Amino acid sequence: MKSKKETIKIIEILKEYYPDATCSLDFTTPFEMMISVMLSAQCTDERVNKTTPFLFSKYNTPEKLSKISINDLEKIIHPCGFYKNKAKNIKACCQKLLEDFNGIVPDNMEDLQSLPGVGRKSANVIMLEAFHNPQGIAVDTHAKRISNKIGFSKETDPEKIEKDLLKQVPKEYYYDVNHLFVWHGRNICSARNPKCDNCPINKYCNSFKK
Ligand code: SF4
Repeated sequence: MKSKKETIKIIEILKEYYPDATCSLDFTTPFEMMISVMLSAQCTDERVNKTTPFLFSKYNTPEKLSKISINDLEKIIHPCGFYKNKAKNIKACCQKLLEDFNGIVPDNMEDLQSLPGVGRKSANVIMLEAFHNPQGIAVDTHAKRISNKIGFSKETDPEKIEKDLLKQVPKEYYYDVNHLFVWHGRNICSARNPKCDNCPINKYCNSFKK
């Protein structure tokens, strides 16, 4: 674990290094954000962004999307991978939104996590991006790897990693950290070939060997 002071220093350095760090999924409503997040599991945001314009041009509400046949939905979202499971969850999620939430995406973690296909990570992203009210830190593959390497957490379970992170990251930095981990993971601290010599936070990283 890192001290709060050191954690803030790391975040400030990353903020300066990635001044444009923001969400890279395209969406215009909380519902579109939620569907995009569901499609982004095990898929790049770039690919999701190529798939959603057609999907949302026809099916941009729970009412409309709940009426599409599962076969047609599978065909549209096929490029995003795991399309059978994703289509099943999206259909069930729309159904629950209509039955329990008047077709409106809820703006709290508990209700979001009651929706099929929406786990804690997705709920965190939706609260952050759709409602600008971050409640925690979404631990995706980048956040997990970086947290372990830097030394924010020794855990492997995303929920335990998030618990560790929340002890070190002050709330006012939740917004930044959610984006910075993703950007750092994509640009410098990649899984296969981390560019440690060029990493702006290498002196704070437990994995850095000179
Ligand atoms: S020093 Fe290397 S392992 Fe550590 S955060 Fe930077 S790129 Fe990742």
